[in-house]
Amino acid sequence: MSRFFSHKYDKLKAYVPGEQPRDMQYVKLNTNESPYPPSQSVIDAAKQQAGLLNLYSDPEITSLTEQISKIYGVSRSNVICTNGSDEALNFAFMAFCDQDRPIAFPDITYGFYPVFAELNNIPYEEIPLCDDFTINVDDYCSCGKNVVIANPNAPTGIALSLDKIERIIASNPDNIVIIDEAYVDFGSDSAVSLINKYSNLIVVQTFSKSRSMAGARLGFAIANEELIRDMNTLRFSTNPYNVNRMTMACGVAALVDNDYYMENCKQIIKTRESTKAKLIDLGFEVLDSSTNFLFVKNKSISGERFYKELKARGVLVRHFSKDKITEYNRVTIGTPEQMECFINVTKEILGEL
Ligand code: PMP
Repeated sequence: MSRFFSHKYDKLKAYVPGEQPRDMQYVKLNTNESPYPPSQSVIDAAKQQAGLLNLYSDPEITSLTEQISKIYGVSRSNVICTNGSDEALNFAFMAFCDQDRPIAFPDITYGFYPVFAELNNIPYEEIPLCDDFTINVDDYCSCGKNVVIANPNAPTGIALSLDKIERIIASNPDNIVIIDEAYVDFGSDSAVSLINKYSNLIVVQTFSKSRSMAGARLGFAIANEELIRDMNTLRFSTNPYNVNRMTMACGVAALVDNDYYMENCKQIIKTRESTKAKLIDLGFEVLDSSTNFLFVKNKSISGERFYKELKARGVLVRHFSKDKITEYNRVTIGTPEQMECFINVTKEILGEL
């Protein structure tokens, strides 16, 4: 840290993204990307916009906002588009939390939440998950704090039903409830249908997982118009061109091709369930997943060793060092061929123990 770095960041520990090693070609199952490429019209849209990069992008993000509002059955004033959903989350933390309005979230969840809280000097409470890694809904009802919940949760993969999510929102009318639906397209219910009923709800989604656009950085939030206006005040106060023109055009094309992406999600769900069955046969404990990843452990090998042995054989998964989950690894669902490779390498590792 330089002597010039502001003391307001003394306690800040930056988020550590999943590794992106360049030393060899890995079977990459560590950052929950889609294994399927973008559709042809998305690639064409990027090419077409590339020739116009001398011009700024549309700060109102008009065409994309309109397309999102159509697909999700809301009005344009209910939508804000962002540079990845991380930016939507940060805007929500910045806009609605402060020293007097702390935020609560599970102790095992998306690792960026405590970072956004530290970054914005927001007190936060990490509420322990139950022993089976589920969320105890009562912990969040009338909790007197803003709440952020990833549904389905990451890295566990476990989803809460919509009625439970609604209980949390309804019981906290004077606090914001952010539902982070990064993985919603892989088999859980969205809370978007509730935004007109609850003025304290913000639903955040991303194009990074189900829509094969992690590298383009595109996310969005859907909420009551006043909340969206507040978040836009912060967007225009930080970076009005937050969604670049290639990404914007790709996002529109991806929504026009929605069927292609939803078919990919179905395939990923099928691959997830067959991989889960094979892992259970190999003695793994596998949490129920409504996402594009599985959270797994095996009594006969430590989480860290399994991660390292896989990596040495060219398969990357994500290991977290946090005590409660150190015996687990998070395995992204790739193509059937990639998963067959993962299972074969796993058999080899277990066979050598
Ligand atoms: N929320 C959750 C739960 C995630 O796992 C991720 C992916 N790291 C994100 C949000 C952010 O994704 P992105 O910024 O790529 O939209």
